[in-house]
Amino acid sequence: MMRKILVAGNWKMHGSKSMVRSLLDGLLAGSSAQGKADLAVFPSFPYLSLAESILSGSHIQWGGQTLNPNAQGAHTGETSGNMLVDMGCRYVLVGHSERRAIYGESDEDVATRFNAAQDAGLEPVLCVGETLEEREAGETEAVVERQLDAVINRVGIDAFSRAIIAYEPVWAIGTGLTASPEQAQSVHAFIRDKLLSLNGIIADQLRILYGGSVKGSNAAELFAQGDIDGGLVGGASLTAEDFLAIYNAVA
Ligand code: PEP
Repeated sequence: MMRKILVAGNWKMHGSKSMVRSLLDGLLAGSSAQGKADLAVFPSFPYLSLAESILSGSHIQWGGQTLNPNAQGAHTGETSGNMLVDMGCRYVLVGHSERRAIYGESDEDVATRFNAAQDAGLEPVLCVGETLEEREAGETEAVVERQLDAVINRVGIDAFSRAIIAYEPVWAIGTGLTASPEQAQSVHAFIRDKLLSLNGIIADQLRILYGGSVKGSNAAELFAQGDIDGGLVGGASLTAEDFLAIYNAVA
């Protein structure tokens, strides 16, 4: 079955009002609703309102980079799923490796955020992936399975009908090292097979994105793999030219 490719840009803690304006104007000019891929961007919280005002009614979706699992309350500095929905977000990233590694989010924290995102009406993009040490120890599948199980055990398989998974090997994020198409496909197939054993329809329809130094020059080969349904792009999503090169690589 055909899963429409999604090309998603995680801007991390980058940007300014002028950068957001020119980047989004460039993306709107260089892509269309009839294009072969869906497009989404993940700006920092202060720029969500600006993104909403520029993208509302367009074919480009947007989302938050994380959320606090509480609906509201005394959580200085935090942002809830309801607030993201109020800013027009469709998506939210959960479990990005930087959140896991720098901010200590455990598998259970990630499951809590996934659940809270769906309760608020958002589509979570669940990021999973192994470190270089784990890959070299032959633990890639075990790590990815543990990260997935934490969420499946919390929310159940049916919740994945309203979610996206992003496989992002930590050693490939922001390093210029990309998993080879074969390495990525093998983990994507492992993820899909695992979900297939729980619910075939959901597993078939689920979009599994690859992330880790995706660029215009390697995107086509990655997207040609049977279980790679798009990309979660960091560095190359910060200019319209680089991001559109990835969008245009979709066959
Ligand atoms: C990311 O931030 O999720 C990512 C994949 O970054 P990069 O494309 O820069 O490796």
